[in-house]
Amino acid sequence: MRLSRYFMPTLREDPSEAETVSHKLLLRAGMIRKLASGIYNFLPLGFKALKKIEQIVREEMNKAGALEILMPLVQPAELWQETGRWELYGKELLRIKDRKDHDFCLGPTHEEVVTDIVRRDVKSYKDLPLILYQIAVKFRDEIRPRFGIMRAREFIMKDAYSFDADEEGLEKSYQKMYETYHRIFENCGLKFKAVEAHTGAIGGDVSHEFMVLAETGEDTIAFCEACGYASNIELTPAETSENYPQESPKPLEKVYTPGVRTAKEVADFLGLPVAKITKTLIYIVEENEAVAVCIRGDHEVNEIKLEKILGGKPFRMAKDEEIRRIAGASPGFIGPKGLKIKIIADKSLVGYPNFVIGANEDEYHYINANLGETFTPDMIADVRKATEGDLCPHCGKPLSFLKGIEVGHIFKLGTKYSLPMKAMFLDKDGQMKPFIMGCYGIGVSRVLAATIEQNHDEKGIIFPWQIAPVQIGIIPLKDSFKEKAESLYQGLSQKWDVLLDDRDERPGVKFNDLDLIGVPLQIILGKAFEEKGEVEIKQRKTGERVYLKPEEIENYVQ
Ligand code: ATP
Ligand code: MG
Ligand code: MG
Ligand code: MG
Repeated sequence: MRLSRYFMPTLREDPSEAETVSHKLLLRAGMIRKLASGIYNFLPLGFKALKKIEQIVREEMNKAGALEILMPLVQPAELWQETGRWELYGKELLRIKDRKDHDFCLGPTHEEVVTDIVRRDVKSYKDLPLILYQIAVKFRDEIRPRFGIMRAREFIMKDAYSFDADEEGLEKSYQKMYETYHRIFENCGLKFKAVEAHTGAIGGDVSHEFMVLAETGEDTIAFCEACGYASNIELTPAETSENYPQESPKPLEKVYTPGVRTAKEVADFLGLPVAKITKTLIYIVEENEAVAVCIRGDHEVNEIKLEKILGGKPFRMAKDEEIRRIAGASPGFIGPKGLKIKIIADKSLVGYPNFVIGANEDEYHYINANLGETFTPDMIADVRKATEGDLCPHCGKPLSFLKGIEVGHIFKLGTKYSLPMKAMFLDKDGQMKPFIMGCYGIGVSRVLAATIEQNHDEKGIIFPWQIAPVQIGIIPLKDSFKEKAESLYQGLSQKWDVLLDDRDERPGVKFNDLDLIGVPLQIILGKAFEEKGEVEIKQRKTGERVYLKPEEIENYVQ
């Protein structure tokens, strides 16, 4: 790459549209450009970084024996109807019609499609285990796309799916992927943690998330230094009492008068401590069919959680305006931030009791909650557990907390998709059995954003060597050094990704650009070159500088 011929539109100022560091720096480094909300172009430098991450993922997946395929983004509704997710998935599933009026969707995930592939052509236990994966575009119509490619609507995911004959097989495949994921994120040069997690809209019983540790992460991880336990602390009803044995829940015999209450009041009423460890705290109060759930956290997380809470019952987000109308409440009821909740029984909706559930933030309200089924004693027990304090559920020692970004998620699915889709194979004993499945995602484009959240300073990105789109930058400070710079460029490019800054720009501009785009190793031909024939080598991360003869560079890099 010669910078004079390259397309790297860097920006000097912070773009006003960006809130997070990675979003700002990706824009400023000329790596991405927005096309529409949550939809981004990757320019050459961004594309290169993405390809490097993909390659690390691909190599490790291949080593694990997974086979790469490519599935369509556009998927027919029929498949999603087979599993019931056409109805259940909610608005994140972007539905479209073709010219013949047939229903399709843009794939937010590919369990149905891959299960269809396998049920058609895999017939025998002899063909198992099988792990298929792809690295491709996903579309999720996120309720609030934000932070650039961190939470986009169109993004790149590596998704893998394992098919086994039995539970032991699944356990092996899952373990293999768990280890593969560790290698992938290590090879990316990231600090991360694998944590116990919830299964969200994908379903299944067991799952782990891989969290890149960064102050700016949306998730909070609780971990125990004593026994190694680590979990995403957003406990949901998915974590049943099976996983966390406890005494049976106290029935809620007190009467609660609907009205605005502070968190403390609600907690006292329920006999709960005000949560210390949960970012998302769910309060439940029942009285005269009235239910309130107070959620602190963010929209996206809440939507998944509520889908769970509602046991798959339809629900939708409602605007504050609409809720005020339904509830006949005064505009003030969605109190100021500060943990006030209002309990509303929604009398105006037809059918079984529907309730508005909401929190103290604008637009944090849902309608069509379903009492009884929705808010079971189990769930209340889970909420109790979630608010119990900050002790490790395994060993009872105090927990520590970290912020993280979810970059990967692995699930044991079992027969969740194979059963409804009748994906069967002939087992050793001559019986037809459903495949036992697992699924394994990595947000490839989110990894890029997370890398930057974890590795930056006031000058810009600090790319780890392994995924740096430019590993070595060369800056000749005088025209007369250009020839030597060119020959260095030619030589080093044989092995590494090298950028030669051959522009007619001031030295300051060149230094700033290399720092901004995060080039780990920067070679400067300046004063020392003129006087002693030595190049200056600067490490982006430490700022450390050494002076070397040009012929010593290769050894130094290795
Ligand atoms: P989140 O909790 O952040 O919404 P998710 O749990 O919905 O993510 P999964 O269904 O587990 O996501 O998908 C696998 C991976 O895809 C995630 O671990 C994440 O890295 C990535 N991913 C999910 N949604 C997005 C998005 N909107 N933009 C970029 N990457 C995403
Ligand atoms: Mg999501
Ligand atoms: Mg998640
Ligand atoms: Mg997930």
